[in-house]
Amino acid sequence: MLIGPQNSAADDALARNLRALRARIEATGAAGGRNERSITLVAVSKGHGEQRLRAAADLGVRDFGESYLQEALLKRERLAARALIWHFIGRVQSNKTRPIAENFDWVHGIDRLGVAERLSAQRPAALAPLQVCIQVNISAEQAKAGVAPAAAAALAADVARLPQLRLRGLMCILPHGQKSQANRHAFAAMRLLLAHINAGQGGHLDTLSMGMSADFDDAVAEGATLVRIGTALFGARPG
Ligand SMILES: *Cc1c(COP(=O)(O)O)cnc(C)c1O
Repeated sequence: MLIGPQNSAADDALARNLRALRARIEATGAAGGRNERSITLVAVSKGHGEQRLRAAADLGVRDFGESYLQEALLKRERLAARALIWHFIGRVQSNKTRPIAENFDWVHGIDRLGVAERLSAQRPAALAPLQVCIQVNISAEQAKAGVAPAAAAALAADVARLPQLRLRGLMCILPHGQKSQANRHAFAAMRLLLAHINAGQGGHLDTLSMGMSADFDDAVAEGATLVRIGTALFGARPG
């Protein structure tokens, strides 16, 4: 006898993936002496439909990461009844800052002051300050967004002064397919850079947004406080 709606196979897979992810994050975090509650799992839902987000929210996921503005705004509107936290993790174009400032809780990809100034000016006064991370091109890849590590402290100092932003820390995206050792090296450099900025500016930046499906174990081992995970949670993106 069936009581209530039957879970779809996709919902079962999602629940399984989420359990497995949380267990891995907890185990790796615990090995580094950390509490799993100090590590936020952001479910990267770009490319997935509203039903997948609902299913994740039903399983207790609160933080969602989106890269494409129009798609994100539509989902946010449809899920407005839920108390969710929305992270913009895509590249911020200067002509799209207003809807981002008005509709997101976090922006991870700050890599130039002009964009940060616009976001601060356009953040509605009625909302809490927009939480932001500075994106660092930690592996010095040619085509990657983000500031050079040597420029991060200066940008952090400028962004920290903007009234409607709250600078939380640093974010990075590593090259695909690297060995674990190279990942660890880059993530450790992020951790040291954050400590260096805090020491120099008497700051309290508390966020290292680093780690995706392929490298989150290495990121958590090196101190990630926020991992952004899509594929390992929802499966391959459609299309
Ligand atoms: C797509 C994306 C992710 C998630 O990638 P997966 O490999 O699917 O986990 C994380 N961060 C950013 C910035 C992304 O664009």
